[in-house]
Amino acid sequence: MAERGYIGRFAPSPSGPLHAGSLVAALASRLDALAHGGRWLLRIEDLDPPREVPGAAEDIIRTLAAFGFTPDGPIVFQGQRHPHYQQAFDRLRDAGWVYPCGCTRKEIADSLQQRGSAPERHRERVYPGTCRHGLRPGQAVRAWRVRVDDIVVRWHDEALGDCEEALARSVGDFVLRRADGLWAYQLAVVVDDALQGVTHVVRGDDLLGATARQIHLQQLLGWPRPVYRHLPVVTDARGEKLSKQTGAAALRSDQALPALEQALAHLGIAPTGADSLPAFWDRAVPAWAAHTGTAR
Ligand code: GLU
Repeated sequence: MAERGYIGRFAPSPSGPLHAGSLVAALASRLDALAHGGRWLLRIEDLDPPREVPGAAEDIIRTLAAFGFTPDGPIVFQGQRHPHYQQAFDRLRDAGWVYPCGCTRKEIADSLQQRGSAPERHRERVYPGTCRHGLRPGQAVRAWRVRVDDIVVRWHDEALGDCEEALARSVGDFVLRRADGLWAYQLAVVVDDALQGVTHVVRGDDLLGATARQIHLQQLLGWPRPVYRHLPVVTDARGEKLSKQTGAAALRSDQALPALEQALAHLGIAPTGADSLPAFWDRAVPAWAAHTGTAR
């Protein structure tokens, strides 16, 4: 399935315009692809309509173009790819990995409390496996979960080194699809990375916690594992991740050069001092290659 050679991608969710934080992920993924002589794809992750802002996808695409990002292939929209997610879901279900779950959030919290393992605030709840052996009579399906057995997922991150996660202890059986039809990000990203032949995933370390679940799904589906590189996310003055939700400022197309230099500085690379966008890209690629030890 995977094509030969390097294929990277930037996969923003259209919950707002491009900002200084998402620019870092876009820039690093593009520089890494260029430094490897590879291809770079743009995928709009529009799978969660209630969290999307009308016009944000077009805005992100326009801003990226104005900043000199040129995708090496058609832009893909997850919202148009439901049949692919369904196919992967059916395969997992047919193989016995998926089961229906009827638990409400409150039931999960109560059950965890009874076991004396109430989750800390902001921490993901570990699903206690209540519905593993079937629903109660008359209980409605709220979601479908994939089974996580007692495995430790180990992988190497290009920036962070060796990582591991005991999935059963960190998240437990996780949701692939909600009863209202919403696909989980974990499934969609794994399906698309595989079908697009993505070999390298360069993204913010806010997604580090999703990596083990994604590798688990790749393994169940028999798909190759991409190389991962997680980058420190940009934080605001309060130390919170810069995000569309916390009101990060939209990038202005007439400020492309300073914004790109700032993103490069966040990656730990000295300013290029370029006076034009083409000059910026010409200089930033070898600088990234030197910084990451990439030989072409
Ligand atoms: N769509 C995800 C986000 O914007 C990123 C997905 C990924 O890079 O794997 O947070």
